[in-house]
Amino acid sequence: MKHNTGKYLEKRVLRKAGTAIHDYRMIGHGDRVMAAISGGKDSIVLLKILSELKSSAPIDFEIIPVHVSTGFEKDFDRVRDWIYDHLGLTVEVFDSGIDEILEHSSDPEKSPCALCSRLRRGILYSMAQKEKYTSIALGHHMDDIIETFLLRCFYTGQVGGMAPSRVSNDGKNRIIRPLAYCKAELVDAYFKTFEVDPVANSCPKRVDGKREQVRGYIRLLEKDIPTVKESILSALGNIDMKSLCLKETFSAHPY
Ligand code: SF4
Repeated sequence: MKHNTGKYLEKRVLRKAGTAIHDYRMIGHGDRVMAAISGGKDSIVLLKILSELKSSAPIDFEIIPVHVSTGFEKDFDRVRDWIYDHLGLTVEVFDSGIDEILEHSSDPEKSPCALCSRLRRGILYSMAQKEKYTSIALGHHMDDIIETFLLRCFYTGQVGGMAPSRVSNDGKNRIIRPLAYCKAELVDAYFKTFEVDPVANSCPKRVDGKREQVRGYIRLLEKDIPTVKESILSALGNIDMKSLCLKETFSAHPY
């Protein structure tokens, strides 16, 4: 099988997603999984993989695709139609009006992305709770996770990332990231085998300079350490707590 065929790439993504789902017990029998669909390639791949797994996995679960429209997306209907025609799923669209909220409430000196993500997250959380969905699946992949880890480390002086599976801060929702073991390049290559263009986003703040910079650092590192991404992801789940610079809350003496 050629390495760039849809079937070969699908097998690879499915294997990695299946392993992540298994390792983090992301999906169980009877689950109602809400899939957040921005219309970008990662979210479309997420939905395709979930629907492939649904038809082949021994467990029965439901997939509910939801699109929270910020007002910046162009031509989402085209993607929605593709999803319906190819995956047989109807995407629920929620018009959030976030573009107008950002226009009136953001400080022009600050990036509106944190507020934008908070608003979108809030909408997804309340929809999931209202409809009793058991989890919210997001399309973040391995590169997103390690970039976030490095960004937090470099710019906020904090060790943290994006967990493949976690309970939300309010304790009421479960977030899952089935593509956590898939590199961006694999997701991109697989997406290219679909006959659909991702939704264009006209947000004027689209370019994230810091994230781009961190991507550049990772690319440089990869030249010397080809498995650097896998190593960082693995390190995030293999923490030697005693060697961190935590201020101890207990006596250091063994007696
Ligand atoms: S780039 Fe625009 S749409 Fe994306 S998170 Fe930032 S404000 Fe929201």
